[in-house]
Amino acid sequence: MRVAVIGGGMAGLSAAHALLGRGADPVVFEASDKPGGKVGSVAERGFLTEDGPHFLARPLDGLIDATGLREEVVQPRPPMTRWVHVEGRVLKAPSLPLLVRAGVPRALLEPLFARPLREDMPLRAFLVERLGRRAGSLAASVMAAGVYAGDPDRLSARDAFPSLGERAAKGSIFKGPRRDRTGLWNLRRGLGSLPLALAAKLQVRLGTAVERIEPGWKVQGEKFDGVVLAVPASAAAKLTRGFAPRLADALSSGFEAAPVALVHLGFLQDTVPRGFGMIDADGALTAIGTLLPSSMLPGRAPPGKALICAICGGARHPERARLSDQELTAEVVSELRRTMAIRGDPEYVRVVRHPEGIPQYAPGHRPRVEAARALLLPGLELAGAAYDGVSVPDVARSGAAAAERLLIASPTQGVHI
Ligand SMILES: Cc1cc2nc3c(=O)[nH]c(=O)nc-3n(C[C@H](O)[C@H](O)[C@H](O)COP(=O)(O)OP(=O)(O)OC[C@H]3O[C@@H](n4cnc5c(N)ncnc54)[C@H](O)[C@@H]3O)c2cc1C
Repeated sequence: MRVAVIGGGMAGLSAAHALLGRGADPVVFEASDKPGGKVGSVAERGFLTEDGPHFLARPLDGLIDATGLREEVVQPRPPMTRWVHVEGRVLKAPSLPLLVRAGVPRALLEPLFARPLREDMPLRAFLVERLGRRAGSLAASVMAAGVYAGDPDRLSARDAFPSLGERAAKGSIFKGPRRDRTGLWNLRRGLGSLPLALAAKLQVRLGTAVERIEPGWKVQGEKFDGVVLAVPASAAAKLTRGFAPRLADALSSGFEAAPVALVHLGFLQDTVPRGFGMIDADGALTAIGTLLPSSMLPGRAPPGKALICAICGGARHPERARLSDQELTAEVVSELRRTMAIRGDPEYVRVVRHPEGIPQYAPGHRPRVEAARALLLPGLELAGAAYDGVSVPDVARSGAAAAERLLIASPTQGVHI
């Protein structure tokens, strides 16, 4: 079975890897000149920076073993101090002043306010109902910013945070297993080494932006038995408009993604604190989140230097992701002086932009995805961050699941898997 996988991000590469493992013949078409999509790493002047994700929270054992990268896995070293920018102040988390500001006493009464998670509830409204105004609002802002660079009033509580829904159904969002922070990992030469190693095992046509698909299936003039669309929803809508207009309409409505820009800055080590980083709960700072990669991971900065990464823009302030490199860098540096007491000027700057950075799962997300999938033609599948979870482990699973569905539907291969 020859399959065209369109999009060489982690969803597409994972789909192709699964197809190859099942004896199919996948070809990945990737518009840019490198595989990995949002996942990539750049080594430059002694600094090692990431294009997007800095840590994965769940293992990807299948892909790590298949690529021989097991020895390269690195975990963050302590201190893992986190700070929260709240009501104009920078507070350590958890700390007494933060808990007082957050209204923790009311939050502890959560079981008394435990109503089921309704279908279409925005994250903030849901958490405020359960935890009270202060704690609910703070928790919603931190969660929305930390995972989606998102707006807590526009993200679905249930679909953007499925474990919240599961806990709520059991009576309390504090019940059930805690997220294991010790499970965070990266790779010695950056997360970008994973897509590079995967792509080396696959047929990947880099620098090939697919503009047209003919049903039946034809991609870039070649014949295929099936197609996996592992591109953002806007690109999938464009590619399907010609032969499946109702599907294209479904993919054009309600599948939004927020733009983000990353500003990597190299400073002298003695001016930079050690820890995990800071999150802005107020939505007031240019940087939604600030990470301290060289404090946690080996080889991110030359000796005596420190690397900081500020993630800017997102759903609350998309305009900030569109500032010029100079304006954005100047704003982030002046903010770091104020919030983290960092001194001096950066000696290294790298700005990375993602105009469609992180999908925003608004209320009604899951039914929207189901409605779109119901309109797929036989031999066509959708995978990626727009649909089944935005984290890298989620998109890898989404790609593999799309591959499985294609093979199951295929009359020649289905019964064998
Ligand atoms: C700043 C940032 C921080 C993040 N942090 C984390 C984190 O800490 N942990 C985590 O797990 N996740 C994180 N994520 C999320 C995660 O990185 C992404 O959701 C995931 O990598 C998306 O993978 P994907 O394959 O679905 O899409 P993409 O990576 O967007 O890949 C899609 C690919 O399709 C290609 N393409 C588009 N159109 C065409 C076309 N017509 N023809 C051919 N190719 C095309 C694109 O060039 C791209 O390479 C972060 C994301 C960002 C932006």
